[in-house]
Amino acid sequence: MKQLKEIARAQKKQMYLLYVLALSIGVIVIGQTYFIVSIVDGVFLKSANMSDVLPSIVGLLMVLLARALFTYLNGRIGMKMASKAKLQFRQKLLSKYTKNPIQASLKGQSGEKVSIMMDAVDEVDSYYSKYYPQMIQTSVVPLIILGTAFYLNWVSGLIMIVTAPFIPIFMIIIGGATQKKSEAQLEKLAAFSGRFLDILQGLTTLKFFGRAKDKQEVIRQSSLQYRDATMDVLKVAFLSSLALEFISMLSIGLIALEVGLRLVVYQHLNFYTAFFVLILAPEFYNSLKELGSAFHAGRGSMGAAKKIIEELEMEEQPVIWGDKILNGGAQPPTIRLENIQFQYGETGFSLQNVSAEISPFAQIAIVGKSGSGKSTLLQVISGLLQPSRGRVNINGSDLLEYKESSWMDQLSYISQDPYLFSGTIRENISIGVKGETSQIELEAAAEKAGIASMIQELEHGYDTTIGEGGRGLSGGEKQRMAIARAFLKKPSVILFDEPTVGLDLQTEKILQESIYELSQSSTVITVAHRLHTIKNSDSILFISNGELVAQGTHDELTNSNSDYRDMVSLQRGDVG
Ligand code: ADP
Ligand code: MG
Repeated sequence: MKQLKEIARAQKKQMYLLYVLALSIGVIVIGQTYFIVSIVDGVFLKSANMSDVLPSIVGLLMVLLARALFTYLNGRIGMKMASKAKLQFRQKLLSKYTKNPIQASLKGQSGEKVSIMMDAVDEVDSYYSKYYPQMIQTSVVPLIILGTAFYLNWVSGLIMIVTAPFIPIFMIIIGGATQKKSEAQLEKLAAFSGRFLDILQGLTTLKFFGRAKDKQEVIRQSSLQYRDATMDVLKVAFLSSLALEFISMLSIGLIALEVGLRLVVYQHLNFYTAFFVLILAPEFYNSLKELGSAFHAGRGSMGAAKKIIEELEMEEQPVIWGDKILNGGAQPPTIRLENIQFQYGETGFSLQNVSAEISPFAQIAIVGKSGSGKSTLLQVISGLLQPSRGRVNINGSDLLEYKESSWMDQLSYISQDPYLFSGTIRENISIGVKGETSQIELEAAAEKAGIASMIQELEHGYDTTIGEGGRGLSGGEKQRMAIARAFLKKPSVILFDEPTVGLDLQTEKILQESIYELSQSSTVITVAHRLHTIKNSDSILFISNGELVAQGTHDELTNSNSDYRDMVSLQRGDVG
């Protein structure tokens, strides 16, 4: 996997350190063997007493300590590299997800994205924490052992050279299978996470419709599939370590046989050398075998990395904004909708032929049946969705010619379900304002939005924390929070998606007054359900099935369009 290696290479200091550690470990292995052999040779053959072998014992202890320390450091460096790499992947994913046009984030399950972001990236860990350091170690330590073996007894060295390749060959064969299996496993996990999150998000709905049981079964099946995929991966991994164990046992046996013959039968070797080689041999194969198990971990990571990179490379056409500055000034901009078309995906709902001129300070109502495309049009005007044909023209230029922030800075978009972040009420209201907001400004905004009294009743007032997505607040309260945001931000264009469901009269009245006050200093485009809003607007865009079928004042449309008449007569009456 090229990308994984590049990330490792980029961490030069760590890489060199790993090589230095590997060299040291190689030397330590030889030293350890030397001391063990000296002690045994001294005690058993040369009948040395304690004081003679004491230096060797101390030496052995030191070497063992050093080996433990270096192995630990090796792991530490690997872990450091891993956490850096994971950070990089997560940052890349995050920046991709945040740059994605809204259309892209509407596609697919959010659970799957979360799974890639969390689990797949975590899976990458073992490449750096296990595989990479081990690979460096294995490329150094066996060579040092091999050199020593050749120097002491070349026949043993030869046996090592001949048998060694079997281990990587097996690793590659089995590793290939593991990678496929682990890719399958990750896919199952992503599917599982996706289903799980989606079902969790819809749990209340499912309960009301008595479908929770069915979904339980879906989760069960999905988790069973994941289990099977995991077991498959483990099976291969266990099988391969068995095979590797077997190969190395055979090879060590071969060396033992050879050394034994030469020592006892032919008497070519002295005990010291024979013993030395015999102790080195397992170290040699161990080092290769460890690469084997690290290799499996690494393979798993490669499967995960592939998934991440696929996700990163998935072409999402970015929305490119220009750098024109939209001057705030005293007057809201003139907005012209020029033959706008928009479609969700290839075959989804489409919006057609929407043309309208919205002059500064105008009060525009968008009306139409549910599902006719009102909210979609509002999002196109806001710049969140881009028309596939036609354009939103602002002060004579295409909206996209402006700098994104210079447009967004002048805009308040109060959707039907405004998003509140987990944080304090203060933070949530002042989110659109650059710099500090004074308590007085904050309270004034909340007052105008009609939530000041509600907030004051809370134990911690403006410092009350609210949950993600505004948990703990009602729909009406969330909208009023959004309106308070608008009061602070003082936008020149307000897009407002009126609540369809009945708020209580009191709240509704406050909302009306708030919007009226906001409209004094800005253009307001409202998806209107209430007759009051509709009647009071300067112009009404009547949408049916994604098409703008008529526009004009309430009186004009009532006189000229029977569909409009029918629809409006069904609207809820005016409050107050
Ligand atoms: P309205 O606000 O008039 O009720 P919307 O603009 O919300 O209607 O939706 C218009 C149509 O577009 C509906 O049929 C709806 O199912 C579809 N739609 C809305 N959002 C999406 C989306 N994110 N992806 C695909 N289709 C969508
Ligand atoms: Mg809507």
